[in-house]
Amino acid sequence: MCLILHGMAGYEAEHTARMFFSGLQRADTVPQEGDCLLISSKPYAQMVFLRQNGEARWTACAASPEQEPADREYALCRLLYHFLQEKTGIRPPWGMMTGVRPVRIIHDMRAAGATEEEIRARFVDHFECTPERFKTALRIAEVQRPILADARPMDYSLYAGIPFCPSRCSYCSFVSRTVGDKATRALVQPYVDCLCRELKAMREIADECGLHLKTLYIGGGTPTSLSAAQLRQLMGCLAETFDLSRLSEYTVEAGRPDCTDAEKLQALKEYGATRISINPQTFSDEVLKNIGRRHSAQDILDCFAQARAAGHDNINMDLIAGLPGDTVEGFRKSLETAISLEPENITVHTLTLKRASNLVVEHRPDAYDDVARMLAHCDLLEKAGYRPYYLYRQKGTLQNLENVGWCKPGYEGLYNIYIMEEVHTILSAGAGGSTKLVQPGVRHARIERIFNYKYPTEYIGQFDTVLARKKGVKEFYDAFAGTNPETTYQQ
Ligand code: SF4
Repeated sequence: MCLILHGMAGYEAEHTARMFFSGLQRADTVPQEGDCLLISSKPYAQMVFLRQNGEARWTACAASPEQEPADREYALCRLLYHFLQEKTGIRPPWGMMTGVRPVRIIHDMRAAGATEEEIRARFVDHFECTPERFKTALRIAEVQRPILADARPMDYSLYAGIPFCPSRCSYCSFVSRTVGDKATRALVQPYVDCLCRELKAMREIADECGLHLKTLYIGGGTPTSLSAAQLRQLMGCLAETFDLSRLSEYTVEAGRPDCTDAEKLQALKEYGATRISINPQTFSDEVLKNIGRRHSAQDILDCFAQARAAGHDNINMDLIAGLPGDTVEGFRKSLETAISLEPENITVHTLTLKRASNLVVEHRPDAYDDVARMLAHCDLLEKAGYRPYYLYRQKGTLQNLENVGWCKPGYEGLYNIYIMEEVHTILSAGAGGSTKLVQPGVRHARIERIFNYKYPTEYIGQFDTVLARKKGVKEFYDAFAGTNPETTYQQ
């Protein structure tokens, strides 16, 4: 179906439309024939026209040129939302909300002095979010409240990225390279050398800015696609360069069992990781095959047992609802298996169809079972003593559902909360790294980004530029010299 935006109709209207129709293609004019959706916003009127399967319908409402742009946009989205809801029978769980961080709305409204009733009205009346989703967001806000209250503006988190994987998952849109081929294998060692240099440079910059390291995260890709010796080199460099004794959390994504063995798990423990991820995504061998994984469910169970044997006492497991070929019952079994292992965290993602992934390239709309019914089985987590502690949404997620991190009380993943709520700076090292600088002491006042090169070859080849760009961190903090940001985060 093609989508035509007319007049002042823009970004929010487009995203509202995409909640109801996947694969909308933008066009400039209404075609003579074929399915199309026209959204128009003019000074005195707003209008939506839909032609689908040869049948055409439209709806309109009056507008005023004096209306504030935000009110005009909301009125158009509401018109569109109700029209498409009636037409398709779809009831998006988050209603008209298009933002990726619903919980943050609660924190922001509370910080601005809103009452609980005003917050409820914002979610349920204004956005038409379901009461169940509002309740989940509210619960998560409560869990996060003391953690955010404890965050200090001059804290920062550090991310080190390993953009290599043993094979490519079909749903992946990340720039990760497969370490199977010789050319990529030859890149890994120079990459780790550069990464260590960048991390050392970051420590110096952090010191110059007066920043304190709060959490450390080695992610990917798949960090354990490095050899045991390379992992030791990287983690040894981190241990030498930073004072890990003051860290509140040190996460390493052990990710996939096809490259994680007892020796690497032992090294992670030895060098100070306090939290690791072993990510099954599913415990169905057939679905693992569908997504391009070259390991079995049994391999995941073995890897988990090895991690426990190595002393890892804070393990996260990622599952994905909506994988191709999975069923509601199959997802439930995966969830039950994960719960039976008693990891401290279970993160339930909803499959997101991203343009750069093989799944989208080979898109088969009939491959996905009812994801909402899969997620309904998350009550099993509740019964097993887990509680939701962070949540985010992504564009292109099946049925506009969400990703939720669940944990046993006291095992909240701090880095996940900090990155979602943007309470402090995240310095990011490695290819594809995006450093996010957060103005200290003032909620969401100023955020700036510094990007590293995306691909490992560029990152290694233009490493001097990578280092030079980091000067921006000092310049950012210099702008606030003389202010007194060392206060607690305002709730
Ligand atoms: S393990 Fe993660 S980063 Fe690597 S290919 Fe799979 S989804 Fe992509």
